[in-house]
Amino acid sequence: MADCTFCGRPVEAHDPLYLSETPGGEPTSQFCNYGCLSAHVDAADLATGSACEWSPEQ
Ligand SMILES: [Zn+2]
Repeated sequence: MADCTFCGRPVEAHDPLYLSETPGGEPTSQFCNYGCLSAHVDAADLATGSACEWSPEQ
């Protein structure tokens, strides 16, 4: 049984998503659904500075 990294509810009760540091590796965090994943990213400010540097303007 894994608890959602964001809300702490069991992810198996929903439509779970798993994140891993390495492809095919052990999950390091899991979320009920995209809503919890998105909320966690916003709350932790994970999107800031994490985008690749490619820009269509250049
Ligand atoms: Zn959740």
